[in-house]
Amino acid sequence: MSLSVLDIFKIGIGPSSSHTMGPMNAARRFVGDLVSADILAKTSRVGVQLYGSLALTGRGHCTDLAVLLGLEGHAPDSLDPGTVEPTLLRIRTSRRLRLGGTQEIDFDEPLDVLWHRDQILPGHSNGMRFTALAADGTIIAREEYYSTGGGFVARADELDVTEANPHTVVLPHPFESARELLERARATGLDLHELVLANEDAFRPRAETISALNQIWSVMQSCIERGFQAQGILPGVLKVRRRAPKLFRQLTEASSPSPMVAMDWVNAYALAVNEENAAGGRVVTAPTNGAAGIIPAVLTYYRRFEPGSSDDGVLRFLLVGSAIGMLYKKNASISGAEMGCQGEVGVACSMAAGGLVAALNGTNEQIENAAEIGMEHNLGLTCDPIAGLVQIPCIERNAMGAVKAINASRLAMRGDGTHKVTLDQVIATMRQTGEDMSSVYKETSQGGLAVNVPEC
Ligand code: SF4
Repeated sequence: MSLSVLDIFKIGIGPSSSHTMGPMNAARRFVGDLVSADILAKTSRVGVQLYGSLALTGRGHCTDLAVLLGLEGHAPDSLDPGTVEPTLLRIRTSRRLRLGGTQEIDFDEPLDVLWHRDQILPGHSNGMRFTALAADGTIIAREEYYSTGGGFVARADELDVTEANPHTVVLPHPFESARELLERARATGLDLHELVLANEDAFRPRAETISALNQIWSVMQSCIERGFQAQGILPGVLKVRRRAPKLFRQLTEASSPSPMVAMDWVNAYALAVNEENAAGGRVVTAPTNGAAGIIPAVLTYYRRFEPGSSDDGVLRFLLVGSAIGMLYKKNASISGAEMGCQGEVGVACSMAAGGLVAALNGTNEQIENAAEIGMEHNLGLTCDPIAGLVQIPCIERNAMGAVKAINASRLAMRGDGTHKVTLDQVIATMRQTGEDMSSVYKETSQGGLAVNVPEC
């Protein structure tokens, strides 16, 4: 069983892949199961219970609205962000919900969505339980799901196997570790992007893969553009003002560019994406929403500032970046609730560093070196979002992660790929560090900046 590049890069909506997209997917899946079991028409009430990190930071991460939208049958990739507010207003004022878009039921949100902040389901900190009841109060269906980061969702029995490897496709070049990936590339004489593309051929025709990757790149660029044009204050109690539009204006109007102008633009690209994410806009999960700005920022830097950059380079970047993301997903986790921010911004930085080297036609060994550097200097990075919002430190952290990724690629490109710490070793270290990290630093808003900075 295997992962695809389209599992790592997904078109979705903000602000969180684990706390917004995952719960939306889980709610939609639960309703789909009611349809499959032919009991949707018998369902007259649905109860949702949220546990652990989902309950602790879910309000700031919009988990409640995601669940409501998922119960109505919406999916993150097709949902028009502009319809979110009117849909929620209808549900909340009418106290009626259209289960699966068709079965209208009473829905009393304070009673039907319960937040268990002091309880954790056994499989993962991001647990959910959905219950369907008939008109006489009989329970006709109940299921628990876990949101494991990056929009992935699993039932308890799927956690160890299916969730990390959602497809049963047989790949020509399977790999479980960076060492295996490099060995297979060496044995076949393939560049890493060629190897990954050959694997993708097992999922779908090549033209569809290329088209999907171009679409992902296009959504990333649109997100930056929207972030530059939008104005005002981001949603939530912090009243954070968007910075990307002003920075864009300053950089565009500057008469004498600073020697650090490329870095200024990288900051602007990352801020633009993550401000859009914080506002619930359309983003590419890469590999999570909290870290969604790093790869678009580094890719846009590549296209604008690297001589000889090309559309083919963008494809190489995305293919190789996804392979690096798969290694973290398979051997550790990309969930802030499990790993802290090293699992989100750290992983995106590592993916972007390796992806940039691929775009610049570096060797397979230099790619592995860059990806390792990208994570090594994010080890221990905690997750402590103030007020549970994906804003502080998240937005600015993406700018820092993007700059760090470019620097990691530059360090790697100056060497020949030989180095002391391997990517596999740093992934294992990240996992162990995440396991050792206190839960207050793992997307619970119970430590760090979240408790030392007043919310308003
Ligand atoms: S601190 Fe990092 S992991 Fe936590 S919500 Fe923000 S971006 Fe995600």
